[in-house]
Amino acid sequence: MEFTLNPCTFKYFLTKQLHKFNVEINIKLLPLCLVPYTKLSATFHLTHQCNLRCTYCYTGEKLNIPMSKATADKGIDFVFAEARKNGIEKLLIMFFGGEPLIEKDLLLHIADRFIREKGDIEVNFQMSTNGTLLRPDLLDELLRRRICR
Ligand code: SF4
Repeated sequence: MEFTLNPCTFKYFLTKQLHKFNVEINIKLLPLCLVPYTKLSATFHLTHQCNLRCTYCYTGEKLNIPMSKATADKGIDFVFAEARKNGIEKLLIMFFGGEPLIEKDLLLHIADRFIREKGDIEVNFQMSTNGTLLRPDLLDELLRRRICR
């Protein structure tokens, strides 16, 4: 799992950087850490495998390493813990690959957990797909969870 750069990760990187810089720079940067943020995004890389072989692409069969369900569950737990600890109001969960629909069961499992456990947090989904594996029944499943619209 990989977090995109957002206020949470920015704060983390900034905190690390604070050890390197002098006090004067720290004081200038510190107010940025105090800006409240209410959104968090997280990207789940479900697999590096893809059913296409685009020549320019870094991924594909050579990196046929899917995410395990245990890893996905730990990732979900982590995202919820961070969100609740920081008073996050909106979560954006992104599915990425390779081709994420190769791992459609895992994708639906992750989406279902976020929907089931979100409480007051607004959860939205995005997916990066080549679209070749979309079939009517799978499309229905994705639409039902608002993974695509
Ligand atoms: S469809 Fe996307 S992930 Fe698949 S090989 Fe092409 S660029 Fe890479």
